[in-house]
Amino acid sequence: MRILVVSDVHANLAALKAVLADAQGEYDTIWSLGDIVGYGPYPNECIAMLSRQPHVAICGNHDYGVLGRISLSDFNSDARQANLWTRERLTDPSREYLESLPETAVVEGFTLAHGSPRSPIWEYLLYARSAQQSFDHFGTLVCLVGHTHVPVIFAQGPAAEVLAPQPGLSVQLDEGRYIINPGSVGQPRDGDPTAAYLLLDTTGRVFTHRRVAYDVDATQAEMRRLGFAPRLIARLDFGW
Ligand code: ZN
Repeated sequence: MRILVVSDVHANLAALKAVLADAQGEYDTIWSLGDIVGYGPYPNECIAMLSRQPHVAICGNHDYGVLGRISLSDFNSDARQANLWTRERLTDPSREYLESLPETAVVEGFTLAHGSPRSPIWEYLLYARSAQQSFDHFGTLVCLVGHTHVPVIFAQGPAAEVLAPQPGLSVQLDEGRYIINPGSVGQPRDGDPTAAYLLLDTTGRVFTHRRVAYDVDATQAEMRRLGFAPRLIARLDFGW
């Protein structure tokens, strides 16, 4: 099975469209690792676009925030403001869709979790130490996570290897255990403003990180029109 793995779309429709177009013909189904809403101006449209395709999706902290399942006091003020705007704008079908999402999933022998397998909604896996502790919390060889908006590969072992993915380079999985982050579609934070995603062939056990440029101006123009926080608009130019 050929999988398109996306995470942290964050209601950025132009970025999601660019990813789907770029990967067209190269996947059979989509796995979404959470935070389809929050920050961006098109929550309902992004949910609708994903819903039209065969896919498996899990919940992220912004999705939970919109549903009122977690307190927004842990969000910074820009994130909180965007989350409250999303809450008001969300249609009933979109809300039902978000409510239907599980916290984690195991599909085709891969574990999906938004933050980490230990604390799926909130924990950020940025460093080797926290990643190493996470390996005890899932039963498959590979866990796919999002949340940090930074593409990365953690390999289990005493060396606690942290690998920076090279976009476009296909990597063959061995029998080791890995935690892999595809990066963010809608709000990259690794200094590269292009949308990040992952292609995964579960049969051949090969994955490829990918990047694709999208119409940043179109997303920013709508955010400006809606009065979103300037910092949220500016960061899309730089990928931070
Ligand atoms: Zn996110």
